Amino acid sequence: METLKFIRPSSHPLLALHQSNYKALKSPSLKYKPKKVTHTVQCSKYGNFLDLKPGKRHESMEFDLSWYDPSKRSRFDVIVIGAGPAGLRLAERVAGYGIQVCCVDPSPLCVWPNNYGVWVDEFEAMGFQDCFDKTWPMSSVYINEEKSKVLNRPYGRVNREKLKMRLLGGCVSNGVVFHKAKVWKVDHQEFESSILCDDGKEFKASLIVDASGFASTFVDYDKPRNHGYQLAHGILAEVESHPFELDRMVLMDWRDSHLGNEPALRFANAKSPTFLYAMPFDSNLIFLEETSLVSRPALSYKEVKLRMAARLRHLGIRVKSIIEDEKCLIPMGGPLPRTPQDVVAIGGSSGIVHPSTGYMVARTLALAPVLADAIAECLGSTRMIRGSSLYHRVWNGLWPIESKCTREFYSFGMETLLKLDLHGTRNFFDAFFDLDPHYWQGFLSSRLSLKELAMLSLSLFGHASNSSKMDIVTKCPAPLVKMLGNLAVETI
Ligand SMILES: Cc1cc2nc3c(=O)[nH]c(=O)nc-3n(C[C@H](O)[C@H](O)[C@H](O)COP(=O)(O)OP(=O)(O)OC[C@H]3O[C@@H](n4cnc5c(N)ncnc54)[C@H](O)[C@@H]3O)c2cc1C
Repeated sequence: METLKFIRPSSHPLLALHQSNYKALKSPSLKYKPKKVTHTVQCSKYGNFLDLKPGKRHESMEFDLSWYDPSKRSRFDVIVIGAGPAGLRLAERVAGYGIQVCCVDPSPLCVWPNNYGVWVDEFEAMGFQDCFDKTWPMSSVYINEEKSKVLNRPYGRVNREKLKMRLLGGCVSNGVVFHKAKVWKVDHQEFESSILCDDGKEFKASLIVDASGFASTFVDYDKPRNHGYQLAHGILAEVESHPFELDRMVLMDWRDSHLGNEPALRFANAKSPTFLYAMPFDSNLIFLEETSLVSRPALSYKEVKLRMAARLRHLGIRVKSIIEDEKCLIPMGGPLPRTPQDVVAIGGSSGIVHPSTGYMVARTLALAPVLADAIAECLGSTRMIRGSSLYHRVWNGLWPIESKCTREFYSFGMETLLKLDLHGTRNFFDAFFDLDPHYWQGFLSSRLSLKELAMLSLSLFGHASNSSKMDIVTKCPAPLVKMLGNLAVETI
């Protein structure tokens, strides 16, 4: 057995970069002190990275939040459940209108666990261009062993600590009050709602916003939730070397030659393929994620890890240590929450995750101000619209009819992907990334109108190979009919 020293997260160059960013933040209240962790891990000399365990991380930020004072009244205009990207951005924006907001989360100061990748232009448009760990000017897509594409659209890994600091700073400046607890129960009367927390504390508000993520139990559905699932296993790893160029991230690597000696894995991958998503930070540090784009039911996590181990072996990537890992399970598509309903949602609980890609964080950050405007129109200083009119307007702000219709289209994309095997998936992305960048970029960023989506479909069909056209003709009619039916229902 060989003994490897585990890298202390706070001593790693990438994390050191994070810390220097914190220092650059202007507010004196912004202080970040990652807890020190030292670990020793052992792994078999010939074993793969699955033997390695990341160190326990107890990262929390030190930040002067305004905590709820129990001696004061427990009634607010708006209560936001959850301090993820969605909750904090919404709380900050709503409070910016002078509306009293309380944000409730079991750990408002914990570093978010997920790693976020976004297109740089999406973050720049919102003024978050300083919230990246690293950006890559290009991305690559490996269709198969012979064919790859370079996408000229910069991509970035979000510095989640810095983004959270920015949002917390905005919340503090705008007067958001925080309470550290888990919400157990939400109740509604005609013009007022209340929450009960696991510490026994009860709060009342005119509006409750659920930003508690994908696992929320506070939002109702009136149709069966037939989600697809994105599943991925990701590691930020110190490696001896890797074969990827440093100026581009790997958006998708659909190559499968690593499964040549693994017939069972190869067969399963041909049916329900997974790809590698990789962000090379330097020649020895890389984020690697084996991803099932969408499957129903979700692919087994073990299967994804085994495929990843085979891939890394084949690519000659020897993992020396794992700095952090992530297990990703994202429900995609399926019906929207019932609208309107007494609880309003944003983020994972609101149905805004992109049904064909699993992307969501940029869209959430962009939509929160729209929702905040709708809330301010009702609860701001000049107007006092509450109860069902309030819920109706706010849900409409989140899901206007045009957005519901475009979502049907993106869900159609997901249903189509669910029907494609490896061969079909490769053909699909080969044609997709040959589209005019306005279309493929707009599709991935959920910003195309219904008319543009129709144009995209025609263009995609035009770019498709003959076998891909055959796939579309034979496998798409059922999802197409479903989409048209849903569109008809939405527009009636
Ligand atoms: C591993 C992973 C990686 C992802 N990577 C990307 C990516 O690269 N790009 C992208 O665009 N999207 C990505 N996503 C999808 C999506 O953007 C994230 O899930 C994002 O974190 C969702 O934000 P949110 O604020 O809605 O929920 P969350 O980030 O899940 O935050 C919810 C918050 O609510 C709190 N909470 C939960 N229940 C309660 C309760 N009962 N009471 C009070 N508080 C509660 C939680 O503690 C948490 O703080 C990823 C998802 C996962 C799971």
